[in-house]
Amino acid sequence: MSKKDEKNEAKELKEKLLIKKESGVKRADAQEIAKADEFCEDYKEFLDRAKTEREAVAYAIKIAKKNGFTEYSCGERYKAGDKVFVNNRNKAVMLAVIGKKGVKRGVRLGIAHIDSPRLDLKPNPLYEANDMALFKTHYYGGIKKYQWTAIPLALHGVVALKDGSTVTVNIGEKPGEPCFCVTDLLPHLAAEQMSKTMVKGFTGEDLNILVGSRPFNNDSESEQVKLNVLAILNEKYGITESDFLSADLEMVPAFKAVDIGFDKSMIGSYGHDDRVCAYPALMAAIDVKTPEQTVITVLTDKEEIGSDGNTGMKSLYMYDFIADLAETDGVELRHVLAQSTCLSADVNAAYDPTYASAYEANNSCFINNGTVITKYTGSGGKSGTSEATAEYMAHIRSIFDEAGVIWQSGELGKVDGGGGGTIAKYVANLNVDVVDLGVPVLSMHAPFEVVSKLDVYMTYRGILEFYRAK
Ligand code: MN
Ligand code: MN
Repeated sequence: MSKKDEKNEAKELKEKLLIKKESGVKRADAQEIAKADEFCEDYKEFLDRAKTEREAVAYAIKIAKKNGFTEYSCGERYKAGDKVFVNNRNKAVMLAVIGKKGVKRGVRLGIAHIDSPRLDLKPNPLYEANDMALFKTHYYGGIKKYQWTAIPLALHGVVALKDGSTVTVNIGEKPGEPCFCVTDLLPHLAAEQMSKTMVKGFTGEDLNILVGSRPFNNDSESEQVKLNVLAILNEKYGITESDFLSADLEMVPAFKAVDIGFDKSMIGSYGHDDRVCAYPALMAAIDVKTPEQTVITVLTDKEEIGSDGNTGMKSLYMYDFIADLAETDGVELRHVLAQSTCLSADVNAAYDPTYASAYEANNSCFINNGTVITKYTGSGGKSGTSEATAEYMAHIRSIFDEAGVIWQSGELGKVDGGGGGTIAKYVANLNVDVVDLGVPVLSMHAPFEVVSKLDVYMTYRGILEFYRAK
């Protein structure tokens, strides 16, 4: 055997036995990359218009209705291909496409969350200090607090009034509208702050938002600046100070989604986690047509704070909906759940060469390498996770390989480096097969996160193929 033959033999064997190291984007053809770019134009629009869970629900229902979804009516008999939605308190939504077999052989679930880290206003937020008006906030989700200082913020949400009406607030997004911000200390005077650890350098009670600085008039009354802010709010929204008590008001970054890189291969935006999976799941729900088994796409709330509450995945709202579908089909809910499968569509931490020591490269996910399957999350010794079974992993990767979906596997950072979880375990606890699938994200939970366009598109393709599979 010549030296050259030996080399070819090794090459052939490598191809047969080893995982391909070539990055996903090298495996995608130009047509596929063009499709990914096109898909992401609409995704960017979604990012800008749906910065909060309420806005994401409204957007999803609007698109769903345009595509033939109607509001679910309990007890009604639906036929294969029918599309229904259930709105849970305007903060979570389920979209179901009835399958040829109904729910008799289980349902296919795709679940993503539409809440993101942010600064919520406290119930009594407005105060005046040294002739400045400020809002007290209570941060929502896991944030590095210093990242939220000195950036433009927009106010989104609703104020519910005692007469039963609701006022929608959205200020700081359109050109010419004011924004708000958390101030930071100038470096010249920050010697003490800079010597502290990052946790202590900027605390939760420091996240106060500047909202005004001019007095109402020249009377000698106190709190004139605060009064002026309330006068403006009263004129614009008809609210008074006590109405803050019945409000869901969120401060979110005011900037828009933009392309990142000279090659425009990536998107930078607030709230990719987890709109970057919610949008692909929504599009898959619209494109699935008539599946074999009923497909349910859930866009849920509260994931970032542990999934508690009636709009989070620890609530029974999805369970009860499947129970209603089971009853109509004349089957027991427990038999439906035992045969059901789920993609918990959530992001994973993309390997970042600048912070390489936080990752274990062999088991990390990389941007531009396709959608990422995460067998388990959790922390420490696999604590707080539902791990997908070997059999279910095999099932999912065979669907993806068959359909040419570019995918990779990933773990969340290195062992004992920290950890995190998704909604997967709450669904798995219902006796459903679940695995996490989603997009690798750089700067996760920062006000400005980065993803690759190819990975967004491959997540859409992955969820759609999962929905369509026999
Ligand atoms: Mn997430
Ligand atoms: Mn998150």
